[in-house]
Amino acid sequence: MQHRFSRSLRFRFFAALGGLLVCAIAALAALSAWIIFPALQAEERAMVKRELDRVERSFQLDQQQLQSQVRDWAHWDDTYQFVQGDYPRYSEVNFSQEMFEDMRYQLMAFFTTTGDVHFLAGINPVTGNYQTCTTPNDECAWMTPFVKTMQAAIAEDRSESTAIYADHNAALMASTPILRTDKSGDSVGWLFKVRSLDDEWISYMEDYTGLPISLTLSNEKAPGSDDFHFSGNTVFAERYFPAYGSANSPSLALGIDLNRTSYLTSLTTFRYVLVWTAVLMIMVIALVLLLLEKIVLKPLRLLTQFTQQIGMTESQTDWLTKRDDEIGLLSRAFQEQFAHQQQLNDELLKLSTHDALTGLPNRRLFDQRLDAAFSEVDGTSDLLAVMMLDIDHFKLYNDHYGHPEGDICLQRLAEVMHNVAQARGFFIARTGGEEFCAILPHTSPGSAKHIGEQLSLAVDRLQIPHATSPVKPFVTISAGIAMLQDPKSQSPSEVVSCADQALYLAKEAGRHQVVLFRPPLASGVISEHNTPP
Ligand code: GH3
Ligand code: MG
Ligand code: MG
Repeated sequence: MQHRFSRSLRFRFFAALGGLLVCAIAALAALSAWIIFPALQAEERAMVKRELDRVERSFQLDQQQLQSQVRDWAHWDDTYQFVQGDYPRYSEVNFSQEMFEDMRYQLMAFFTTTGDVHFLAGINPVTGNYQTCTTPNDECAWMTPFVKTMQAAIAEDRSESTAIYADHNAALMASTPILRTDKSGDSVGWLFKVRSLDDEWISYMEDYTGLPISLTLSNEKAPGSDDFHFSGNTVFAERYFPAYGSANSPSLALGIDLNRTSYLTSLTTFRYVLVWTAVLMIMVIALVLLLLEKIVLKPLRLLTQFTQQIGMTESQTDWLTKRDDEIGLLSRAFQEQFAHQQQLNDELLKLSTHDALTGLPNRRLFDQRLDAAFSEVDGTSDLLAVMMLDIDHFKLYNDHYGHPEGDICLQRLAEVMHNVAQARGFFIARTGGEEFCAILPHTSPGSAKHIGEQLSLAVDRLQIPHATSPVKPFVTISAGIAMLQDPKSQSPSEVVSCADQALYLAKEAGRHQVVLFRPPLASGVISEHNTPP
């Protein structure tokens, strides 16, 4: 059964479409894993990079502003004179705590061309107080690292530049040579401005960019690179900038915190699409299987059942044969074939159970019916008579009238005897050349005798001339009857043999009579009926 199922069309369709479904889902999964999800992630990284670019541009803008501010101051005749020592009130007139705070400066440093400090002014990061010095000592000691970096820059002759300075705290440092307003003459020194990249600066940048910004110093990452940290709903991205300072050339990392809403929404949407595509595929395949089952497999199964002619109801047969598709065509062809076969079978059956000349049942059918009649009687007290009939002097008839006439005679006798049998409801067969046998169920010896006489009378009435018969001038028959005495001990052939013996007695007694076999002693003539006038 299992084996048959695995070879059935239903299983094959199921396996093929199931396999297709698995392949399609695997393809979908592969497509998602290798193309779509990476594309979504790449898009997210690109978006984060764009945001980092924006922060970097804002940072650069701030550096440029500082650079242009330092240039304004350095290319100003008042500054020129101040560095030459010609304008002692310069610092009083131009510098104040408010100015430093407004401009977000931490320090302004004036140097001579050789890099000696001329003047320093700034806001002490510890006290928050404005201070001026001419050397970075004592209370201006906090300026020392800056001054050293600036002097190193002067030594390297970085004439006009902005750099990020990073020691303990990060700062922007812009410098330019000091010149006259009209740029005539030589430079008389250097002016440096320092802007602290502190919390205030960060909140300024946050206001400017609209992004949450963080700033750290790092020794590990190379300047110019980016770093991303994805976690849950947020991504933290950092970009590294080169910084100078006493520490080991650390990098300055500008970081931003971003929401991954867009990415996560795309991801959720895509997952939805993915799941629904898979569900849809499963539904389509299930529907195809269902349709296949309804349109092809079920009719095919019924057709198979139909060809085997088992357990088909009339409505199922109609459903098959009245279809106007290929299955209907096939069913109708089968139906015609069946009808033809049935007809042939019937004919064959008739040929094998009936006599060709007279059309009466033959010996074979007689034997079957006798067996059946015996079985019916078995165990009951029912009566059963067997009658054997034979044409008297038929050889003489043949000799006189010829064989063909003999055949016609046989046919006519068979017909009338068949009519009587039909009228009385018993079975009669041609069991030999000119010999007939009848089975008479539920029949007493008297009734059997009466039937025998009726048959003989019917033959007599035909009045078929028989010129050479010593009995009558027409064709007559004799009959022997045997009753079934004991179904347990008697076989059908024994009863037939008894009937044959009775027939023999009828012949012996002069023919044209009916004799009942009388066991066990002797048999006697019951009657010789009268010949019709
Ligand atoms: P009895 O009264 O003792 O029965 O004499 P009978 O001549 O009828 O008996 P017998 O057995 O000597 O002859 C039977 C004959 O029946 C012989 C045969 O030619 C004839 N016969 C048997 N079958 C057919 C048949 O199919 N057609 C024809 N025409 N004759 C047949
Ligand atoms: Mg005979
Ligand atoms: Mg005979």
